[in-house]
Amino acid sequence: MIKFLDLYKINDRFRNELEEAFSKSLDDSHFILGNNVTKFENEFASYCNTKYCIGTASGLDALTLILKGYIHLGKLKRGDRVIVPANTFIATILSVLHADLVPILVEPNSETYNLSSDMVREKLQNETKAIIMVHLYGQLADIEGLQQLAKDYNLLLIEDAAQAHGALCNLGKAGSVSNAAAFSFYPSKNLGALGDGGVITTNDSELFETVKLLRNYGSKEKYKNEIIGCNSRLDDLQAAFLSIKLKSLDGDNQRRRKIAKNYIERINNSKLKLPFYDDSENHVFYAFVVEVDDRDDFIKFLSQNKIEWLVHYPIPPHQQQALNDFNYISLPLTEKIHKRIISLPISPVMTDQDVQIVIDALNTY
Ligand SMILES: *Cc1c(COP(=O)(O)O)cnc(C)c1O
Repeated sequence: MIKFLDLYKINDRFRNELEEAFSKSLDDSHFILGNNVTKFENEFASYCNTKYCIGTASGLDALTLILKGYIHLGKLKRGDRVIVPANTFIATILSVLHADLVPILVEPNSETYNLSSDMVREKLQNETKAIIMVHLYGQLADIEGLQQLAKDYNLLLIEDAAQAHGALCNLGKAGSVSNAAAFSFYPSKNLGALGDGGVITTNDSELFETVKLLRNYGSKEKYKNEIIGCNSRLDDLQAAFLSIKLKSLDGDNQRRRKIAKNYIERINNSKLKLPFYDDSENHVFYAFVVEVDDRDDFIKFLSQNKIEWLVHYPIPPHQQQALNDFNYISLPLTEKIHKRIISLPISPVMTDQDVQIVIDALNTY
């Protein structure tokens, strides 16, 4: 069996250090916003080349708090339109709804699956005040184009970097190329905790001060509440775990890229459309996504060959029951992509032999 993502194996590499961190946390008993959170926030800000990093309870909360922070600062107001990619994990769109803003769904570039600036430009309205770009599957979006657009139309540019920890281009690293970025540390992400977690990275000192209050009951000083906040703190123990795992992130991403290159060079099958990749560090391959005409048939083949798979994602957000206000919209490109895509196994703990087995199998499909 070729596992899609062997979480046990991924975390077992750090077992001793993780157990030590847990034991130290029990000894210290400082469970909420302790030193581990501050330490990890500093380390991750420095990793992303941003001035600030604020821990949150999840990636969704990180996105929502960025938007609520800008509302609090008067840079966004209820009803403002926010551009989001139509093909994304639903969290991107939920964050806009949770902040009482209006998501405008834009079709992606069909090669990169990411927002491109020309497609966004066509959808701009007077009420459009922000763009959330998602670095989907780990590949950076059209940063240069979107930065220019944000500048030309005075829009906030926000990154959903939940799949792109460490992705890098000449304009900077994921998390540092916009007004503010959200990361998730859901266990399966390239940097994953042993539970839920997230962060916001930013160079904006006002936003930093605001979201720091918002995540903790609007409070800096215990029992003194300055603004209406919520409870969305990064768990101190998870922060300790993340500090341990951060040291291996670049190596892990390098391994993912190597596997992806191998797949791209050696999978030779006209029935499979392989992902677009420019051979640079702008992709950290959170997912290796291929397209196929008859996905049900391909799934049967993978199962017979004991190769695990996933679909990121089977139902586009605008067709979800939860988003029934959007169900009437037609987004043909997004709908087509969702019918054709499937993700193959990729992870830093996959062996060369596992990779070879996948390649050999796919070449016989
Ligand atoms: C995982 C993910 C999120 C949400 O992160 P959580 O920590 O699960 O809340 C948001 N956006 C994208 C693109 C994601 O992949």
